[in-house]
Amino acid sequence: MTIIHGLDWQDFGRSLEGIPFSLDPPRVKEKSRDFYWFSPVLRRTLCGKYGDILVMPRSEADVMKVAKRCVEWKVPLTVRGAGTGNYGQAMPLEGGVILEMTAMNAIRWLRPGMIRCEAGLKLIDLDTEVQKMGWELRLHPSTKRTATLGGFVAGGSSGIGAIQYGLLRDPGNINGLRIVTLEDKPQALELRGPDIQKVNHAYGTNGIITELTMPLSPAYPWTDMLVAFDDFMAAARFAQVLSQADGIIKKEISVYAWPIPAYFKPIRASCPAGKAIAIVMVAEPSEEAFQFLVTACGGQLTYRRSGEEAKRTVPLYEFTWNHTTLHALKADRSITYLQSLFPPGRNLELAEHMIATFGEEVPMHLEFVRLEGQIGCFGIQLVKFHSEERLNEIIRYHEDHGVPVFNPHTSTLEDGGMKVVDPLQLGFKREVDPYGLLNPGKMRGWWEDKTVQVHDGALYR
Ligand code: FAD
Repeated sequence: MTIIHGLDWQDFGRSLEGIPFSLDPPRVKEKSRDFYWFSPVLRRTLCGKYGDILVMPRSEADVMKVAKRCVEWKVPLTVRGAGTGNYGQAMPLEGGVILEMTAMNAIRWLRPGMIRCEAGLKLIDLDTEVQKMGWELRLHPSTKRTATLGGFVAGGSSGIGAIQYGLLRDPGNINGLRIVTLEDKPQALELRGPDIQKVNHAYGTNGIITELTMPLSPAYPWTDMLVAFDDFMAAARFAQVLSQADGIIKKEISVYAWPIPAYFKPIRASCPAGKAIAIVMVAEPSEEAFQFLVTACGGQLTYRRSGEEAKRTVPLYEFTWNHTTLHALKADRSITYLQSLFPPGRNLELAEHMIATFGEEVPMHLEFVRLEGQIGCFGIQLVKFHSEERLNEIIRYHEDHGVPVFNPHTSTLEDGGMKVVDPLQLGFKREVDPYGLLNPGKMRGWWEDKTVQVHDGALYR
């Protein structure tokens, strides 16, 4: 029996009147972690952060009951999807309840171009279901095979498909969602239109998402391809031209400086030593036009898998986005990463400058995306980690030279994002989580601009 925050968690579990829970320490510990270990800084600052009890709601009614008990007992609650977040987003900094949503995975309805489903539905299961009707997910993280939809909307931002549809936060990429609040009398609220941004990418700090309505796109047979170039900038220029080729339908365009491809063990034979590579997903009807572009830009096609073949091997998207970092970490634990923005119009010039400045200390990896109608890049560069001081120097240099960094070595919303407190999300938290029990410690604005007292382990006004 664990007594933390002066509570008997067995009693708390019993008060849930039959909602499944676990106090098994190894299981609670395991469900208290995400992929924070990609960062040596978070490995230091988040070690030893665990929840006290794991609760597995089966329905929104269960979620309402857990929310009510947490408010009555004043215990923190951290929502968890599949725990694939990167910055300790799903890690409970103040202990308390870990609310694992994966049992809530029902599809409510499916219409041409749209789906309504519960938040705990895995993205791969969602995509498999809608493919049967000729549709597919517009956007997904490279963790599609493990992550949940609720976790993607609350903790993710972009990924495969962003070259065609922009970012999750762009109007139209989320149609609606439903949340449960942690007020004295919890309620379920449906958020539509601009209100969706109150909880989109808010790390579950201001509402437990129980259902979502998402747009779909027509399903294409996608061909996975890998193109080698003598140097990185040739690959980047090719990627820019391909991104701007509106007649060629693509779902993923990313480029990698050597030695990054050396970490891609399963496809290593298709990555010529010393060369830069581009990983692309192109719709089969666009393949022929694509091939002409490869030739015109001096590339060499070294790998091709049709949609069907790709289903029987590791999909190339599992080498992109933050899977790149995962493959590198498997080979060298001293590596970490950055998340940066190379803005439209200057993306290639700034990438060339950073390569010239940092060379193999910061191997370049660019993800090409649409940003408000223009082509820009997210950098998910690798970093050979020497010290936190040096890492901060590299981050500062990027920021001082026109490349904002969404710092992945912090678990607060603001520092991992645009650095400013989001008044919309903070204001909404005040309304729906007045005791500050949802994912405490992740919204810097919450504790900064108000006096927060800590009473018996709970953070509230
Ligand atoms: P979790 O990690 O469980 O949770 C993420 C955040 O959302 C947490 O703050 C949690 O509290 C909150 N949350 C979860 N469910 C709910 C809910 N129902 N209601 C309210 N809050 C909730 N991310 C991208 O955007 N694009 C990528 O391409 C990408 N690639 C990745 C590659 C690797 C190898 C790894 C390790 C991570 C990657 N990520 C990426 C990050 C992460 O995988 C995704 O954001 C994923 O969608 C998170 O889903 P999840 O179910 O694992 O969420």
